[in-house]
Amino acid sequence: MSIDYSKYSTDDIHYKTLSDFPIGFDVKEISEDLNSCNKCEKVVRWYDEMYWQGEECQETNKILGDWYAVCDDCYIELANKGAE
Ligand SMILES: [Zn+2]
Repeated sequence: MSIDYSKYSTDDIHYKTLSDFPIGFDVKEISEDLNSCNKCEKVVRWYDEMYWQGEECQETNKILGDWYAVCDDCYIELANKGAE
Protein backbone atom coordinates (compact mmCIF):
# COMPACT_ATOMS: atom_id res chain seq x y z
CA MET A 1 0.00 0.00 0.00
CA SER A 2 1.46 3.33 -0.96
CA ILE A 3 1.16 6.50 1.07
CA ASP A 4 -0.38 9.58 -0.51
CA TYR A 5 2.10 12.23 0.60
CA SER A 6 0.26 15.00 -1.26
CA LYS A 7 -2.29 15.01 1.58
CA TYR A 8 0.28 16.32 4.07
CA SER A 9 2.06 19.64 4.49
CA THR A 10 5.07 20.38 6.70
CA ASP A 11 2.81 22.02 9.29
CA ASP A 12 0.56 18.93 9.33
CA ILE A 13 3.36 16.69 10.53
CA HIS A 14 5.66 18.98 12.54
CA TYR A 15 5.44 18.11 16.28
CA LYS A 16 3.17 15.13 15.61
CA THR A 17 4.36 11.60 16.32
CA LEU A 18 5.12 8.99 13.69
CA SER A 19 2.44 6.70 15.08
CA ASP A 20 -0.16 9.27 13.93
CA PHE A 21 0.73 8.39 10.33
CA PRO A 22 0.55 5.26 8.19
CA ILE A 23 3.16 2.53 8.79
CA GLY A 24 6.29 3.22 6.78
CA PHE A 25 5.60 6.95 6.66
CA ASP A 26 8.75 8.86 5.63
CA VAL A 27 8.88 12.46 6.85
CA LYS A 28 11.56 13.19 4.23
CA GLU A 29 8.87 12.86 1.58
CA ILE A 30 7.28 15.97 3.08
CA SER A 31 10.30 18.03 4.08
CA GLU A 32 14.06 17.50 4.08
CA ASP A 33 14.20 19.66 7.21
CA LEU A 34 12.28 17.17 9.32
CA ASN A 35 13.22 13.96 11.05
CA SER A 36 11.79 11.97 13.93
CA CYS A 37 12.97 11.41 17.46
CA ASN A 38 14.27 7.86 18.05
CA LYS A 39 12.79 7.86 21.53
CA CYS A 40 9.29 9.41 21.38
CA GLU A 41 8.88 9.48 17.56
CA LYS A 42 7.99 13.17 17.55
CA VAL A 43 8.57 14.86 14.19
CA VAL A 44 10.96 17.81 14.56
CA ARG A 45 13.54 19.78 12.55
CA TRP A 46 16.74 17.73 12.53
CA TYR A 47 19.10 20.71 12.54
CA ASP A 48 17.86 22.74 15.50
CA GLU A 49 15.36 20.59 17.39
CA MET A 50 17.36 17.39 17.81
CA TYR A 51 20.56 16.09 19.40
CA TRP A 52 22.65 13.61 17.42
CA GLN A 53 25.06 10.97 18.64
CA GLY A 54 28.60 11.78 17.49
CA GLU A 55 27.72 15.27 16.28
CA GLU A 56 28.42 17.32 19.38
CA CYS A 57 30.55 16.93 22.48
CA GLN A 58 31.43 13.87 24.58
CA GLU A 59 29.01 15.09 27.21
CA THR A 60 26.17 15.00 24.66
CA ASN A 61 27.18 11.51 23.53
CA LYS A 62 27.16 10.31 27.12
CA ILE A 63 23.70 11.77 27.77
CA LEU A 64 22.32 10.25 24.55
CA GLY A 65 23.64 6.82 25.56
CA ASP A 66 22.17 4.21 23.20
CA TRP A 67 19.94 6.69 21.38
CA TYR A 68 21.12 7.84 17.97
CA ALA A 69 19.03 11.01 17.69
CA VAL A 70 16.45 12.48 20.02
CA CYS A 71 14.30 15.62 20.19
CA ASP A 72 15.00 18.52 22.58
CA ASP A 73 12.41 17.29 25.10
CA CYS A 74 13.84 13.77 25.26
CA TYR A 75 17.35 15.16 25.51
CA ILE A 76 16.39 17.24 28.54
CA GLU A 77 14.72 14.17 30.04
CA LEU A 78 17.86 12.07 29.49
CA ALA A 79 20.09 14.83 30.84
CA ASN A 80 17.99 15.11 34.00
CA LYS A 81 17.99 11.35 34.46
CA GLY A 82 21.78 11.30 34.22
CA ALA A 83 22.06 14.01 36.85
CA GLU A 84 20.06 12.11 39.46
ZN1 LIG B 1 11.64 12.72 21.71
